[in-house]
Amino acid sequence: MTNVPLFDRLALIGVGLIGSSIARAARATGVVKTIVATARSKTTRNRVVELGLADQVTDSTVKAVADADLVILCIPVGACGEVAREIGPHLANGAIVSDVGSVKGSIVRDMAPHLPRHVHFIPAHPVAGTEHSGPDAGFAELFINRWCILTPPAGIDAGAISRLAAFWKAFGAKVETMSPEHHDLVLAITSHLPHLIAYTIVGTAEELGQVTSSEVMKFSAGGFRDFTRIAASDPTMWRDVFLSNKDAVLEMLGTFNEDLSKLTRAIRRGDGAALFDHFARTRAIRRGILDIGQDSAAADFGRPHDRLPPIPLPYSSD
Ligand code: NAP
Repeated sequence: MTNVPLFDRLALIGVGLIGSSIARAARATGVVKTIVATARSKTTRNRVVELGLADQVTDSTVKAVADADLVILCIPVGACGEVAREIGPHLANGAIVSDVGSVKGSIVRDMAPHLPRHVHFIPAHPVAGTEHSGPDAGFAELFINRWCILTPPAGIDAGAISRLAAFWKAFGAKVETMSPEHHDLVLAITSHLPHLIAYTIVGTAEELGQVTSSEVMKFSAGGFRDFTRIAASDPTMWRDVFLSNKDAVLEMLGTFNEDLSKLTRAIRRGDGAALFDHFARTRAIRRGILDIGQDSAAADFGRPHDRLPPIPLPYSSD
């Protein structure tokens, strides 16, 4: 396998967990020749320099995108429209412009109007992450065996889509393409609703009168501990996700509330058979997830401490 660069100049706008993981993976795989990075705060920019994550670090989004053939916004969903407006007039001819946002419909709505016709706009969502934030939190292996969903608008050049797909595959990701609307519906149930539930449960536990918070911490069983990890996710990112994917989340929440009512009724009526049937069905879903390799039986799969040994890179110049 030969790793030859797929892009000459990658511009990363935002270097938190996801941006810094992309920078690390791009360095490790050699898929880009040069990385130029920009971040909103001086603290983050200084840290990017200290960590050696980019060849150039600038305080200007406009300077960052100059001559870049791949531009990736790695910032909260709600900030992408404004940044697209800033960089739009300065994008190079033929550049691929992408993002990593957890919601796709609002990204298309907010970014597309600001992007010139001479660039290829291909929104993306690597379905990989942790509850940590910032440039220190990233790691090159984050995307291995994880999905990256591309949601290109109709009419986008197929060659550009293939190049971006090859970029993500070089990091060990699996790539799938779908419409932004379908992405938002799927992620509402697989990611957004679980986060909302975790935020709710941890908040409820904290507000309980009869049980002290120190007892909650002391006796927290595995289930609650897992919820606290999810509920520690970045507040800005998740605020933006719920504001941007409102309709799909509300639709899923409606179905969830109906199912919760059914379980509530079964508990109230002492209907053990209904509870058993439900739990048996969900256990089978968990086994299905393990079978397709989307998680391991070990706790916290995919965290930095579980880093895999160096793998043969799946990207080849062929
Ligand atoms: P992060 O670690 O908090 O980093 C966010 C970056 O965005 C930082 O560089 C921050 O700059 C910058 N930023 C924040 N607000 C901004 C604004 N208003 N304008 C310009 N830049 C701004 O976040 P992350 O986890 O990497 O998430 C970035 C994106 O990835 C989000 O859209 C999120 O939906 C998506 N995503 C996240 C995960 C996950 O698990 N975390 C997974 C998949 C996709 P400073 O550091 O200078 O403040």
